[in-house]
Amino acid sequence: MRKILVVGAGQSGLQLALGLQSHGYEVTLMSNRTADEIRAGRVMSTQCMFHTALQHERDLQLNFWESQAPKIEGLGVSVAAPGSWAEGPAARAIDWVGKLDGYAQSVDQRVKMAGWMETFAQRGGQLVIHGAAVGDLDYFSRTYDLVLVSAGKGELVSMFARDPERSPYSEPQRALAVAYVHGLGPRPEHPEFDAARCNLVPGVGELFIMPTFTTSGRADILFWEGIPGGPLDVFNGVKDPREHLSLTLELMERYTPWEYARATNVELTDAGGTLAGRYAPTVRNPIGRLPGGGLVLGVADVVVANDPITGQGSNSASKCAAAYLASILEHGDKPFDEEWMQATFDRYWEIAQHVTKWTNAMLAPPPEHILNLIGAAGELQPAADRFANAFDNPADFENFFYEPEKTAAYLASLS
Ligand SMILES: Cc1cc2nc3c(=O)[nH]c(=O)nc-3n(C[C@H](O)[C@H](O)[C@H](O)COP(=O)(O)OP(=O)(O)OC[C@H]3O[C@@H](n4cnc5c(N)ncnc54)[C@H](O)[C@@H]3O)c2cc1C
Repeated sequence: MRKILVVGAGQSGLQLALGLQSHGYEVTLMSNRTADEIRAGRVMSTQCMFHTALQHERDLQLNFWESQAPKIEGLGVSVAAPGSWAEGPAARAIDWVGKLDGYAQSVDQRVKMAGWMETFAQRGGQLVIHGAAVGDLDYFSRTYDLVLVSAGKGELVSMFARDPERSPYSEPQRALAVAYVHGLGPRPEHPEFDAARCNLVPGVGELFIMPTFTTSGRADILFWEGIPGGPLDVFNGVKDPREHLSLTLELMERYTPWEYARATNVELTDAGGTLAGRYAPTVRNPIGRLPGGGLVLGVADVVVANDPITGQGSNSASKCAAAYLASILEHGDKPFDEEWMQATFDRYWEIAQHVTKWTNAMLAPPPEHILNLIGAAGELQPAADRFANAFDNPADFENFFYEPEKTAAYLASLS
C-alpha cells in the first residue's frame, strides 16, 4: 500500500491521517507533542465548527464528543453604539440571533487532538513524536510516496512562498485574547438554546462568546479580537492567567456590559485556559520545494491562514482534509507529482477562496450597506438566519453581502 507522511497533528493532519488509515494506507504521523502534552497544555483555539465541517468528521466516524459537546443552535450578533463607552459602559444598538439549520459545536482541541492521536496509534498507525525540520523532510520526501505538511502556522510555513495576490494584509489585523471559563450565566435572550455570540465594538474590536467542551466538561470561551494599538490590545506580555481573565472582564464591563452582566462569577477552567497572540492572514503557494529537489504539499493553515474573526480555520481545516482525502483516493497508484499537488490545492481553494474573501472583508471597517444589513437583520428574521447559516457556507455571502446592490435587492425581497 502507498506510504504517506503527515507532518503535524492538528485538525487537518489528524483528520487526514485517520481517514487515510481507514482506507488502508500506510500512514506515519509526526507530531511535535505527545497526546498527554497536548491535553495538559495551553488552549489553542476556540474551534467553533459548523455543520458541513462536523459532517466530514461524522463521515469518518470521528465525532467522538458529539453527544457531550454543547449544541450551538444559533448565532447572535450585537453591536455597541459607536462611542457610547466614552462616558461609561457602552450601550447596545443592535441585537439579534439567527438560527442555524444544523448545529455547530466546539470541542477543545486539547481534548480532540489528544483523543484522535491515541485512536490513530491504537488502530496501528505509526506515530512519531518529533518536531520536523526542513532537513528531515528532504530525507522523507524520498522514502514516502507523499509528504503532507499540516503543521499549522509554525516554522515549516517558510517552505511555502506567500502569495501576495491572495494576501492583502502583510501585518496582523487583530490582537487575540482567549479565556476558557466556568460559571458564565445563560444568555438572557432565548436561553432555551445555546448560541455563539458576536459582539462588534466599532473601531475597537470584537468579543466572541461560545460554549465549548473542554478537559473539565462544559465551559464557555471569552474571546477578544482587538484592533492593534487600540484599547483591547493589552494582553501582550501578560503571563499570569488570572491577570488575563481580569483584563478580559474589565474590557467586557466597559465595551459589552450586557455580556459582563452574566460573567461576574466566572473562573478559569484551568491554568492553561488562556491564550494571546496575533498573526497576519496569509495565503501561500501550496507546494514546498525541498533543498534536495523533493516536493511536499501544504495543508489547511499552512497554505491558507485566515484571521479567526469569522471562526473558520478549523472548518476550513476539516474541509481541506476532506478534499485532499478525496483527491488522494481518486488518484489511485499514480504518482503524486507537482501537477496533482496543484490540482489538489485548487480543488480546496474553490472552497477556501470564499472564506478568505469574507474574512478579509470582516477585518476592514464595514461599509454602509453591511451596517444596514446587520441592522436590518434585527427586524427581518430570515436575514438573521441567512447570515448565521453563511458561517457554514461562506460562498453564500457572494449573493447578498459584498455589493451594495445585491444587499439592497436581498433586503427588498424580504420586506
Ligand atoms: C484564538 C483563535 C481562535 C480560533 N477560533 C476558531 C473558531 O472558532 N473556529 C474555527 O473554525 N477556527 C478557529 N481558529 C482557527 C483554527 O484553530 C485553525 O485554523 C485550525 O486549528 C488549523 O488547523 P491545522 O490542522 O491547519 O493546524 P493546527 O490545528 O494548528 O495543527 C498543527 C499541528 O502541527 C504541530 N506542529 C507544528 N510544527 C510542527 C513540526 N515542525 N513538526 C511536527 N508538528 C508540528 C502543532 O503543534 C499542531 O499540533 C482559531 C484560531 C485562533 C488562534
